[in-house]
Amino acid sequence: MKPPTFDYLRPSSVAEAIEALTAYPDSKVLAGGQSLIPMMNMRLARPTALVDIGRLDDLSGIEANGSLKVGATTRQETVLAHQDVGGRWPLVTSALTHVGHPATRARGTFGGSIAHGEPASELPAVMLALDARFTLRGSSGERVVDAQDFFLGHYTTVLAEDELLVEVEIPDASGSAWGFGEVVRRHGDYALAGTAIRLDTEGDERITQARVALFGVASRPIRSAAAEERLVGTRLGDAAAAAAAGRIALSGIEVAADSFVSAAYRHDAAAAVVERALLEAASRGRGES
Ligand code: FAD
Repeated sequence: MKPPTFDYLRPSSVAEAIEALTAYPDSKVLAGGQSLIPMMNMRLARPTALVDIGRLDDLSGIEANGSLKVGATTRQETVLAHQDVGGRWPLVTSALTHVGHPATRARGTFGGSIAHGEPASELPAVMLALDARFTLRGSSGERVVDAQDFFLGHYTTVLAEDELLVEVEIPDASGSAWGFGEVVRRHGDYALAGTAIRLDTEGDERITQARVALFGVASRPIRSAAAEERLVGTRLGDAAAAAAAGRIALSGIEVAADSFVSAAYRHDAAAAVVERALLEAASRGRGES
């Protein structure tokens, strides 16, 4: 199918892009187009205008000093290939290898994968696990939103109609243990269940803080408070604790059932990926990529 007719605008600055979003109600930001265009072709999105930010240089780029700062229109493949990102934020690069394919990552943007609000996307869960912060800019100015407060539901975030996600900031995560895993039908598909995990430990590898983010299981990416509580105080690599955390990972979470798999399947899949990711985190050791 082909998309319905729409106006196309290519602003030369962020300010101009915000003006266009304000002037054209029901317009949509176009970044890499790897999600929006297929949705328009399937008539699942019918914007009256597209505001193309894909070539706005001041929205692209990577800074890896204390924290990691990624401009929203930085291509996913550029982040994946960045040496410092892989060395100090291996959870980001590990997840990125599961996002689509090299061809889609060459066009798809880091910010687009977050702004899209697809509950089965890998990057939003990684942002939850790494306590990322998002800078949004719109006609009423700029604001910073914690990842934990950004995702509201299926394709729904706190972004206002006239707002752009301009930058993603991820605090330094060196020294943490991390794990990632997902269940998919084919590599590059959206996940049926997946997890992104960060563990802070001290001394004898006792877990002092756990962040267990899940994706593909509910209407938005979500942290598992039950699994996190179960892990704190246990030792990294404790197989019984890993299995227990996996079993309760979806406690208190409204699990999605759809045409792909049942909620019961998602419970089992989430349990398996969480347990496996925790044991891999231990075998990899702290802060190794
Ligand atoms: P676009 O498609 O341009 O936009 C997506 C949405 O986000 C739109 O609503 C748009 O308005 C909004 N948006 C984009 N950027 C901004 C911004 N800076 N500020 C405000 N709003 C913004 N993704 C996964 O996570 N996992 C996968 O496994 C996966 N597999 C894929 C397989 C295929 C074959 C394809 C084609 C895509 C796949 N994707 C997958 C999606 C891909 O990663 C997209 O790149 C990503 O989801 C959206 O990024 P984009 O830059 O293309 O955004």
